[in-house]
This record gives sequence, C-alpha cells and structure tokens, in this order.
Amino acid sequence: MTPQTSIDAARLDLILNELRLPAIRQFWPQFAQRADKEGWPAARLLAALAEHELAERDRRRIERHLTEARLPPSKTIDNFDFDAVPMISKAQIMALCSGDTWLTSSANLIMFGPPGGGKSHLAAAIGLALVERGWRVLFSRTSDLVQKLQIARRELALEAAINRLDRYHLLILDDLAYVTKDQAETAVLFELISARYERKSILITANQPFAEWNKVFPDPAMTLAAVDRLVHHATILEMNVESYRRRAALERKRKSGRPPARMTPHERDLVASDNQTST
Ligand code: ADP
Ligand code: MG
Repeated sequence: MTPQTSIDAARLDLILNELRLPAIRQFWPQFAQRADKEGWPAARLLAALAEHELAERDRRRIERHLTEARLPPSKTIDNFDFDAVPMISKAQIMALCSGDTWLTSSANLIMFGPPGGGKSHLAAAIGLALVERGWRVLFSRTSDLVQKLQIARRELALEAAINRLDRYHLLILDDLAYVTKDQAETAVLFELISARYERKSILITANQPFAEWNKVFPDPAMTLAAVDRLVHHATILEMNVESYRRRAALERKRKSGRPPARMTPHERDLVASDNQTST
C-alpha cells in the first residue's frame, strides 16, 4: 500500500500549507516512499522530515538575507588575492568573517587606502561570509544611503528610517569620502553614526584618512565627534597599495612586452602613461 492511498493526501497538503511547512509538504511523498521501501520506523521518518524542514528554513533565510544585503556580485574571500595587500593578515580577515567577537560587541571596521586597492572587494567579501554565517548585512554606497536618509528626513521619518537599519548587524558604508560636503547630507550621516554607536556595527571604506574627513562633515566639531564614535571600538585596516587593476595591466604588459589585445581602453591608457614615465 502506498502512503498516498492510506491517507487523504489532499487534506495533508492543505494542513502542511496551513502549518507553513513547505519543505515537508513538497518532499513527504519521497520520504514516505523511501521509509516504506527501507522499513524505517515511524519516528525516524518524522525526525527526517523535521530536520529537512529546518535545514530548508535556514537555507531560505540566508537566501533572503543575501538578497537584502545588496552585495556587489562575485567579490569573495576566495577570489581576493591577499598577496596584493601584504599589510593585511588573512588570519585577521578570516576571524572578522566569523563576526562573533566584533559584531556581538558592536565594534566597527574601517578600511583606508587609495582607489583600486581592494577595499570594496574585501568589504563585500566579508559581508558575504557574514551573511553565510547567519548575520544580516546591508552594503550601500555611502552617498546612496545618505540620499535615502535625506528623503526620509524631508518626510520627517529620519528616526524611523535609521531604526529600520537596526535589523542589520552590519552596515557597510562604501566610499565615505565621496559624500559631497553638503550640510543636510552630512548631518544625516552623523545621525546614523551616532544612532549605531555601541549598538550596531558599521564597516566604512574611505579613500581619505581621518584628517581629510573635514571635507565630508559640515564642521570640524562634527567630524571629530563622528570619528570619535567610530574609532572607539574599531579595527582599522590601512590598505596602502597601488591599484589592483593597474598592477594587473602592468603585469600583463611585462609578460607580453606589448599591450595584449584583451586589454580594456582604460588599461591601455594606464600602460601608455607608464611607458611615458619610464622612458
Ligand atoms: P577600492 O574599493 O579600494 O577602490 P576595489 O575593491 O573596487 O578597490 O578594487 C578594484 C578592482 O580590483 C575590483 O574589480 C576588485 O575586485 C579588484 N581587486 C582589488 N584588489 C584585489 C585583490 N587583492 N584581489 C583580487 N581582486 C582585487
Ligand atoms: Mg571602492
């Protein structure tokens, strides 16, 4: 006798839907068939179905968190070349990827370095690893988030908007230094930093050191107050390396003696300018 004939399968389908057990609903016929064939005890079948629902639930949750994180695609720890940034310890990054110590204590992470040095890549890769471990993350260009908060402020909903960001254990603010120095804009950024202080973590990437942040915030006092809150519990990574793309382009040139056909026009320019300086 097959399980389908011994029970009202249509009714079971409705019940499992009502109970919100989609994985059991979809897979119980397969599990039941196997159990019958292999002579599983009833308790084993029940346990297998329950485990399956739980595993699927975790997978779906992480999938949702991955979608909401808005991470740039294909930036992973695996495809990050640590040899290109010898001042960064891979072991330290791997520890940050677990999230356990710094996210639970609402500490921050700040990455400095010139453009192209891999800050956004590393920030996204850490974000991805954290989501895979169950943390909630939001990656945003700082200027985009500032714009959204400004709109919220105009609608008298800034506090609510900042509170909504509380659901993220980590907020990645990419390219802080590119925010334009506009009184209203930078004030919302300050509000955000103050609100998260000692409550939730922030990861910031910036092309410019703290000394230059006066160009970001409206006045020196606000800059000082923002920096003070950010660095109180923070890890600071200095990634002072040459642009990865530029180095890759130069490497290809060195190997072939001439610009390879696959080079982008931008890379061709870089090689051309290098030729001018070296001759
Ligand atoms: P930044 O944010 O510091 O300006 P990016 O992270 O955007 O730099 O890096 C520029 C490009 O070079 C990206 O495509 C990135 O994936 C790549 N890149 C930079 N550093 C590395 C690295 N160490 N390993 C692999 N790819 C890298
Ligand atoms: Mg960047």
